Amino acid sequence: MAVETAAYAEQTDIQRDITEMVRQFADEQIIPNAEKYDHEDSFPEPIVEQMKELGLFGVTIPEEYGGMGLDLTTYAMIVEELSRGWISISGVVNTHFIGSYLLMKFGTEEQKEYFLPKMATGEIRAAFSLSEPEVGSDVQGIKATAKKGEDGAWELNGQKMWVTNGLGSGVVFVLMKSDPKADPPYKGMTCFITEKEPWAEENEGEFAGLNVPPKIKKMGYKGVESTELVYDGYRCPPERVLGGEEAGVGQGFIQMMDALEVGRVNVAARGVGIGQRALELALRYSQERKTFGKPIAAHQAIQFKLADMATRLEAARLVTRKAARMKDAGERSDLEAGMAKLLASETGKFCVEESFRIHGGYGYSKEYEIERLYRDAPLLLIGEGTSEIQRMVIGKKLLQRHKI
Ligand SMILES: Cc1cc2nc3c(=O)[nH]c(=O)nc-3n(C[C@H](O)[C@H](O)[C@H](O)COP(=O)(O)OP(=O)(O)OC[C@H]3O[C@@H](n4cnc5c(N)ncnc54)[C@H](O)[C@@H]3O)c2cc1C
Repeated sequence: MAVETAAYAEQTDIQRDITEMVRQFADEQIIPNAEKYDHEDSFPEPIVEQMKELGLFGVTIPEEYGGMGLDLTTYAMIVEELSRGWISISGVVNTHFIGSYLLMKFGTEEQKEYFLPKMATGEIRAAFSLSEPEVGSDVQGIKATAKKGEDGAWELNGQKMWVTNGLGSGVVFVLMKSDPKADPPYKGMTCFITEKEPWAEENEGEFAGLNVPPKIKKMGYKGVESTELVYDGYRCPPERVLGGEEAGVGQGFIQMMDALEVGRVNVAARGVGIGQRALELALRYSQERKTFGKPIAAHQAIQFKLADMATRLEAARLVTRKAARMKDAGERSDLEAGMAKLLASETGKFCVEESFRIHGGYGYSKEYEIERLYRDAPLLLIGEGTSEIQRMVIGKKLLQRHKI
């Protein structure tokens, strides 16, 4: 049973209906099955199939391409509910959402018409790839290259790392160095839309030269695969440069950073979702478990923990929605998206740890849901820019906005 903590919901009718629908889906389909897929570390195919039927792969894709055409704010509410169920489920749609954003904002008409209808139904899923074995935070340091051949196609070479949905995706939006001499380096980077065969470890035919090594073994965030990608002579046609060659070559870094802004709102919503679930588990357990002759919830020290969790969570939810609303209104929200990501991911981790403490020894048992949350939550401190990187973004933007 979900426990409502937010009295001031401030949702439109559509937002309320859709979040209620996703909340019910999480209660009935995700939460009861998450333990099984987490323990097996297997892809939750039946849940993903139902998400396709609910249209959740096309939430932000315009109706003309078969999606729901909803805004980032509504998407963030949906992600919060999915993550309350299990953050791996939101991971299945997260990179897909970033890929659709890149297409909608920068894609050519041909690229939109070719990819978006298939992405709206979930027929193909998208991955998003910046990181490499030696590079994460410092994106300008990537080494993978794209070289234009005499036949006009681009040859991609290099190794990518930590690609969420790296195996099951049918398309990867990948950042490559197209001009190694560019100074500063970001001006020589291009985003390529690389198609592949979903679930194929070695691609053949037109997709040859893109191989997926075995998935990385992780402490949490199981079920959704994280992989390396090896580009070894992969041929990418010129019409698969994001935005087309004329507009897109050399623009990849700027396009990807723009997408990370919405990605950060998305991760913030995941932090709120996992924190909300941790709070619900703590509220329930603390009223069931007795020590010294009364439920532990009657001890003030436990009440303080619940109060801090709920208070911080509410603040994180509000900042997340504010960042989403600003982006929807067409305002710059880099500062707010950074704040939302920082606050909400740290709050998610805080709530999970406090809930874990409230569970006492049972929190350490795999039979209790909080054990999974404890392994899942730290990812949010890392993905889409670490907390240190968010602080750097926030500090830099503050100084830019308040320059004397
Ligand atoms: C499960 C998982 C899924 C992921 N999915 C994707 C994906 O789909 N696509 C993708 O492209 N990437 C993905 N990533 C990669 C992720 O974005 C990076 O791990 C993250 O950006 C951090 O990079 P790094 O791991 O190389 O750490 P590093 O950049 O090496 O940083 C190491 C430490 O140094 C700190 N640090 C770095 N620079 C500074 C600085 N200037 N000042 C202060 N501190 C600093 C960092 O905060 C961190 O604490 C995923 C990662 C994980 C774990």
